[in-house]
Amino acid sequence: MSTYIKGETGEWEMVIGLEVHAQVTSNSKLFSGSATAFGAAPNSQVSLVDAAMPGMLPVINEYCVEQAVRTGLGLNAQIHKTSVFERKNYFYADLPQGYQISQYLHPIVGEGEIEIDLADGTTRKIGITRLHLEQDAGKSMHDQHPTKSYVDLNRSGNALMEIVSEPDMRSPEEAAAYVSKLRMIVRYLGTCDGNMDEGSMRADVNLSMRRKGETEFGTRTETKNVNSIKAIQQVIEFEAHRQVEILEEGGEIVQETRLWDPNKLETRSMRSKEDAHDYRYFPDPDLLPLTFDQAYIDAINDNLPELPDQKKHRFMNDFGLSLYDASVLIAEVSRANYYEEASKGQDPKLTANWVINELLGALNKADLDLADSPVSAQQLNQLVARIGDNTISGKIAKDVFALMMETGKDADIIIEEKGLKQVTDTGAIEALVDEVMAENPKMVEDYRGGKDKLFGFFVGQVMKKSQGKANPGAVNELLKSKLSG
Ligand code: ADP
Ligand code: MG
Repeated sequence: MSTYIKGETGEWEMVIGLEVHAQVTSNSKLFSGSATAFGAAPNSQVSLVDAAMPGMLPVINEYCVEQAVRTGLGLNAQIHKTSVFERKNYFYADLPQGYQISQYLHPIVGEGEIEIDLADGTTRKIGITRLHLEQDAGKSMHDQHPTKSYVDLNRSGNALMEIVSEPDMRSPEEAAAYVSKLRMIVRYLGTCDGNMDEGSMRADVNLSMRRKGETEFGTRTETKNVNSIKAIQQVIEFEAHRQVEILEEGGEIVQETRLWDPNKLETRSMRSKEDAHDYRYFPDPDLLPLTFDQAYIDAINDNLPELPDQKKHRFMNDFGLSLYDASVLIAEVSRANYYEEASKGQDPKLTANWVINELLGALNKADLDLADSPVSAQQLNQLVARIGDNTISGKIAKDVFALMMETGKDADIIIEEKGLKQVTDTGAIEALVDEVMAENPKMVEDYRGGKDKLFGFFVGQVMKKSQGKANPGAVNELLKSKLSG
């Protein structure tokens, strides 16, 4: 038995570094003009270059290069003005060239860092080691025939960005926050669609354990091609547990490459870890080094959109939102835009509550995307305005909102149609107060005799009589003066 239990590492600390493969959003491949659409019929998007026919030469796709630079800038990273494509040599059935064109000693992007947001409301910086461009391999298919394997080369030659982190993460939660922030950044930039279920983003999980307080890292394992955030967390939990068991029995961790089995929820050994020299890296003689000047980098930098963390800080500073609210709102650009539109001229905190609690809740329940929301940002803006100018109470607003979701009508129309306008006319409210007091003489007596707690009862009765429409402030005031009299 080890001292390690799920979610509690005891005297052990996790050390996690992630290598994320992100497919560049591009209509054509990194070194050929073939299409890259997901889900096409097998081998329908394969050029002679992708199939590695003799004499075929790679031609760099400038658009993909630009996306890598954009991503590097989005990761606050160093852009290298000269980078080199190298051949990484190995045999695999889905790799017709017998090597992968990748970058090794001179990647296009160097060190950077991103901020991750944790559930306890804190943020942490995670270092980026590098980002390099490489080609994807094809895909072997073992489930098409009882005795034969097939290969689909559609993916062969797609442009991938490999984004390598520093071993800075210390828990599954941090790893999950890192991958979601990374995905958010590439989606904001439009450089990768971030769809993990289509394989557009997948991670290699490097993990080692050490006793808390130790400064040296332990030996790590690398679990390949994990394709969901949940699975990344499961891999970390599983591997941490497995490694601690070995270490506590006095054993040693073998540095190796492992595979995640999503059905058995366990990792298993795939091969012992190869070293870089095994791949016989050398500069690809078919490709010149990539070089850019500062003007090229500056032009891309000038056209970057506002990025998730910038937006988050702006929402916190300009709108006074909490880190939590800001983080939820910036999770998708469309959501952030919706919020900004809805909060125009309104109380920003109140609007944030409406977007996060009511709107997102209702959309989730109805299984709808924000893009298909029956309530537009302008319509929510009007609803929040009616709370702000005391036309309706927050409570009535929830009923109005439910009707808006149902019918797509404007708040003002529903308020008018249903006669939901808040009663602020003190004469009308006074009449209700009188009625309630007349109907409950015993309660009035008890209240006046010192049972202060009954006040809430009177408020409730008056509100009920007004069908929720009486202005609560006026009700309170009138009740106070009448009951004391
Ligand atoms: P390789 O290319 O052989 O996979 P790298 O040096 O590029 O090796 O490291 C890959 C990843 O492993 C990086 O994300 C790095 O942060 C992480 N890493 C390196 N050493 C450790 C360690 N001892 N424990 C956990 N992660 C590690
Ligand atoms: Mg690796």
